[in-house]
Amino acid sequence: MAEALFLETKLIRGEHSSGQASVVEPINLSTTFYRGEDGHFVSNGDIYSRASNPNRTTLEAKLAMLECGDKALAFSSGQAATTAIFLALGANSHIILPDDIYYGTRVLIDSVLADFTITYTICDFTKLSEIEKAIQPNTKLIWIESPSNPALKISDIAEISKIAIVKNIFTACDNTWASPYFTQPLNLGVDIVMHSSTKYLGGHSDILGGALIWKNTLNSQIAEKLQNIQKLGGAVPSPFDCWLLSRSLSTFCLRMPQHAQNAMALATYLETHPAIEKVYYPGLKSHQGHEIAKKQMINGYGGMVSILIKGDEENAIKVATKLKIFRNATSLGGVESLVDHRKTAEGEHSTTKPNLLRISVGIENVSDLINDFKQALD
Ligand code: PLP
Repeated sequence: MAEALFLETKLIRGEHSSGQASVVEPINLSTTFYRGEDGHFVSNGDIYSRASNPNRTTLEAKLAMLECGDKALAFSSGQAATTAIFLALGANSHIILPDDIYYGTRVLIDSVLADFTITYTICDFTKLSEIEKAIQPNTKLIWIESPSNPALKISDIAEISKIAIVKNIFTACDNTWASPYFTQPLNLGVDIVMHSSTKYLGGHSDILGGALIWKNTLNSQIAEKLQNIQKLGGAVPSPFDCWLLSRSLSTFCLRMPQHAQNAMALATYLETHPAIEKVYYPGLKSHQGHEIAKKQMINGYGGMVSILIKGDEENAIKVATKLKIFRNATSLGGVESLVDHRKTAEGEHSTTKPNLLRISVGIENVSDLINDFKQALD
């Protein structure tokens, strides 16, 4: 297929594992692949499905294409993909993390990786001098998340990458919230992009998955370690999950602009409501990181909005339970709108403000979404 096609076309009309005969790719459940009579493999190099299988090959090609990368690895969850990066760094590594990082990433290091003496420093990524100050002789990685979860802080990805290159430190960016439709970290100088494909890439809240993507310029030892962790660690998605995610990506370019359009309209409305203390959405001029977002985000500002409800935690929980279209549930990135009281979801070690509600804006009619908040807040 000609390389010159647009992304929307390639996600639908791209090559798949069974060639051109079937219009829709079949699911290949075989765990092992026949060695021909002369001992050579007859199935595109597939030997055993933990190492590779036709549906994963199709999916990984799409994931690499989406992030403008050369290589992608699919994992069974976002956390499995994150774990692979941290393991690849080796013991006694130091990592720099943003203060508003996905709760699960921080807890993963504290509760599992700390035993392998992986240490970290947390700092405010909106201040580049803080990142520079946090660098230690054994710092191996700067972990970026922009917009961050849940306060939607924007980090200047290109500037952070420059700092890392000078100091010979790897950068990885959790691009789950922005998705490649709105931010392409590899093009901004980042070494590895990580995804929870459970979210916008899957888009329908029905697949758990993760991904790592990089360009050929990535240090070959790290690239090899990541591939070995995927293959030998074995946290790989099933052929069905690969097929479903690949199928879901066909509508990715239709879904994403609608998420962003609805989020912008809802955030703009919420900013005018007297029951709201603050709206966090990088598309708003009032957002602290708006100028950087304008520079580094393409096509819009994404589908996630967080708000502070005036009053205390109880008020925030009450609003969440009064909403009828926004389902009160954790996770994000699906076609359906969700609302989440993050402090409750994160548990006892949460550092999130008690009156914060995280909103995953879906692709329903935006008037219904605004009216739903109106009735809940009023
Ligand atoms: N990164 C971010 C920003 C997330 O929001 C999540 C999940 O909510 C993850 C990583 C973890 O992904 P998964 O739940 O697919 O393991």
